[in-house]
Amino acid sequence: MRDFITRFAPSPTGQLHLGHAYSALIVFEAARKAGGRFLLRIEDIDTIRCSPEFEVGIFEDLDWLGLEWEEPVRRQSEHFDDYFAVIDALATRSLVYRCFKTRKEVMEEIGRAPHHPGEGPDGIIYPGPSEPMSIDEDAARIAAGDPFAWRLSMQAVEEALGDLSHLTFTEIGAGPNGETGECVIQPDFIGDVILARKDIGTSYHIAVTLDDALQDISHVIRGQDLFFATSLHRILQELLDLPVPVYQHHELMTGEDGERFTKRDKSETLASLRESGVKAADIREQFGINW
Ligand code: GLU
Repeated sequence: MRDFITRFAPSPTGQLHLGHAYSALIVFEAARKAGGRFLLRIEDIDTIRCSPEFEVGIFEDLDWLGLEWEEPVRRQSEHFDDYFAVIDALATRSLVYRCFKTRKEVMEEIGRAPHHPGEGPDGIIYPGPSEPMSIDEDAARIAAGDPFAWRLSMQAVEEALGDLSHLTFTEIGAGPNGETGECVIQPDFIGDVILARKDIGTSYHIAVTLDDALQDISHVIRGQDLFFATSLHRILQELLDLPVPVYQHHELMTGEDGERFTKRDKSETLASLRESGVKAADIREQFGINW
């Protein structure tokens, strides 16, 4: 049996709210109960949206909630080279291709498809270019210095891995439709996702999958909104020969109006609750976590 190691991995793009507190407490409590390790990882590859000020807020909020984590904290913005190396390796194996299109062009292309392709982990599924770019045009655009994203080629993935229905992961929580136990991945909901964004040269999917492996995470515990992304992460693990953690997706907290908390919603941030006199113990109790 692997040692129990889990992590809470917030992005410092805003202040933490009750939904984050719920997630962090579930993760921390799982480690505590298992006598395992709890890591904190700062997912700040989006250097435009993330700010050091929000990162400080994360430390303050989690400390206030009563959590303790190991040092040093892995900060993804300090490890871009690791993520670029993964993209290079996938490019060398022709598992990703350059996409020079703008978002608008991609949406127009999807709009011309006979059927709506459905929603994947990153929004509307991009089934891939209707016509692949010629080698000459590719070379010309690279030479011109045009910016490009790297997209996963699901066709190349299927050629490399064969029938994807042998790829499974163990879910000890539940997906949004009650998926639990040994779950077969759902490749039809992925499409040619972006693995390296034009602006930052990597993506959440690459960074999270690689870091979970590098940090030896045995249990990935996170919100249900990431359940479908797990199929993609499982494919990346297979392509990169990485270990497969156990997954536990938990329900998302909603406010009194039944809507999910978002970072734009200032009313329920942990900082504002703290200022208004709410105690960390009240929050833990609200979520049925007492120690
Ligand atoms: N950084 C992600 C977020 O803030 C969480 C990633 C994960 O737990 O896999 O939503």
